[in-house]
Amino acid sequence: MRDDSPNSWESRADSFSLYGFTDLPSIHERGAVVVTHGKGPYIYDVHGKEYFDANSGLWNMVAGFDHPGLTEAAKAQYDKFPGYHAFFGRMSDQTVMLSEKLVEVSPYDRGRVFYTNSGSEANDTLVKILWMLNHVEGNPQRRKIITRVNGYHGVTAVSASMTAKPYNSVFGLPLPGFIHVGCPHYWRFGKPGETEEQFTERMAKELEATIITEGPDTIAAFVAEPVMGAGGVIPPSKGYFQAVEKVLKRYGIPLVADEVICGFGRTGNTWGCQTYDFVPDAIISSKNITAGFFPMGAIILGPELSDRVQAASEAIEEFPHGFTASGHPVGCAVALKAIDVIMNEGLADNVNTLTPLFEEGMKRLAENKNIGEWRGKGLMGALEAVQDKDTKTPFDGKLSVSERIANTCTDMGLICRPLGQAIVLCPPFITTPAQLDEMFGKLEKALTKVFAEVA
Ligand SMILES: *Cc1c(COP(=O)(O)O)cnc(C)c1O
Repeated sequence: MRDDSPNSWESRADSFSLYGFTDLPSIHERGAVVVTHGKGPYIYDVHGKEYFDANSGLWNMVAGFDHPGLTEAAKAQYDKFPGYHAFFGRMSDQTVMLSEKLVEVSPYDRGRVFYTNSGSEANDTLVKILWMLNHVEGNPQRRKIITRVNGYHGVTAVSASMTAKPYNSVFGLPLPGFIHVGCPHYWRFGKPGETEEQFTERMAKELEATIITEGPDTIAAFVAEPVMGAGGVIPPSKGYFQAVEKVLKRYGIPLVADEVICGFGRTGNTWGCQTYDFVPDAIISSKNITAGFFPMGAIILGPELSDRVQAASEAIEEFPHGFTASGHPVGCAVALKAIDVIMNEGLADNVNTLTPLFEEGMKRLAENKNIGEWRGKGLMGALEAVQDKDTKTPFDGKLSVSERIANTCTDMGLICRPLGQAIVLCPPFITTPAQLDEMFGKLEKALTKVFAEVA
């Protein structure tokens, strides 16, 4: 809780730092949570209070907040070669090995990888790659990017333009040429009497109509998260990706999977596109790729895009793009270890062990008369608060219901995230069944308390 003395961590945080995506007046009132360390799925604040982080940090700390194998991998690489770039035909041995590994675990039999420091930069880079390809190949008009309402792709000027959330209007975004189509959330956007299959069909038709209106030869790509994450954990409607894939193929438009959250196990498979049975032309990865132990993003290009980049780069002699820390040797060493830990040390398996328990807990909480639906896949889910379950009427926004639930949880030592009127849960992959039970127990208490206050 807030300590108001001027030398408190809370006051010092407020005086000198800005937080991302934070309601500043309310955090000023409550006080920041200043965190010093972690153990397993728990974090500890400056007062020694323990919190179960049911959001894995920001989806990414899937191996928990202390992992000897990962810190050892970092230390060893710092000792050996603490930093280098991947420019001018040079790169570290770790970078070489990580690219081989990423292509090996990708859906592709061959491909090429480009590194960034974040998921936003990875999406930015993907767009620049497509713009370059189309320019060099004589289709300079092919620049538009299609994404979905509620899709989240990052915060740089380009990736924020791909992120179809109303808050980006304060920046005057999206930039021209970034087009947003409908969100495939059947529960919320299905019309009365419409089956889920008909809804999916409508989404695909809307995409096709948009492509035709914009001009098929002006569209560079369609980019989508297999399960929308920061949009509120929204799995696609039944058959969505198959329907969309068919439309995109008809017009020769690449399909890119933004796997920044889904990638490396979150939905129960290595990739979300495996869970939903489609093969994208490229994959965007970040977050779990280093289990959050190092900032990194990666674009994994499938065979066709790899060949086109090779040809285009030959035509213009170089690929004029790269970040100073692209393919950082420590990041790559950490990523190699993280992928091994997730895939071979039982973390991915544990997601599949926990999933039925997670679903059971979500279903139980969704029986509450103020929870409209639970939704999710694997170890990511959301509970949607509603004032009226039958009509799906949300609470008055002024009540800040999801924020109150999250704050009540924080007071009880549980971190979960309010998103719109939903509460989002995505615990670390190392969570035990007992910890999952405790999480649901606390959340249930918070729901009861807050709904009693507002109903
Ligand atoms: C977090 C996220 C990003 C952006 O990654 P940053 O590292 O925060 O820039 C992009 N796409 C998806 C799906 C994400 O969840």
